[in-house]
Amino acid sequence: MIPTRETIVPFIADILTRRGADSYFGEAVTMQQHMLQAAQLAERERAGDALIAAELLHDIGHYLGEFGEDYIARGIDNRHEDAGVEVLAPFFPEMVVACVRLHVAAKRYLCATDPAYATTLSPASLATLRLQGGPMAPDEVAAFERAPHVAEAVRVRRWDDAAKDPSAVTPPFAHYAPVLERIVRGD
Ligand code: FE
Repeated sequence: MIPTRETIVPFIADILTRRGADSYFGEAVTMQQHMLQAAQLAERERAGDALIAAELLHDIGHYLGEFGEDYIARGIDNRHEDAGVEVLAPFFPEMVVACVRLHVAAKRYLCATDPAYATTLSPASLATLRLQGGPMAPDEVAAFERAPHVAEAVRVRRWDDAAKDPSAVTPPFAHYAPVLERIVRGD
């Protein structure tokens, strides 16, 4: 069933209930652990509802198929950050969507601009970096820095990278559902 503004939060909760135990592409945590840890890191820094929501949902594009066959038919299944944008844009504000769109680019950006950053990446994340284009070239760095919401996207990226601790204890999704509801309502 295609979600609406009224059903999108329970819709996401249902995806995590059924699919949250999926592996997170070679990482030591499940998808659900990763998403909740990422949200928790943002929450601990009092980053605000929008960034907590962006953190929680940055990888939702991996579940594109759950949002209806239409997306697959339109060929929006090749890059998970773009898939995430497609499913979130009808419901979430531009800043949240931008952070999701830019979270892979932010990794390429940080690899090009912060010499210490690449040493913090997990082996799986380093492996996908190559497929994603490697560190940005100087012209790509300049273009990235002109995009809206870059500072927020970089914060989202750093929490994303840190949210891979198999021993971390997080609140359940239900703790973050009210955050998502507030964002969707525009509170
Ligand atoms: Fe992630």
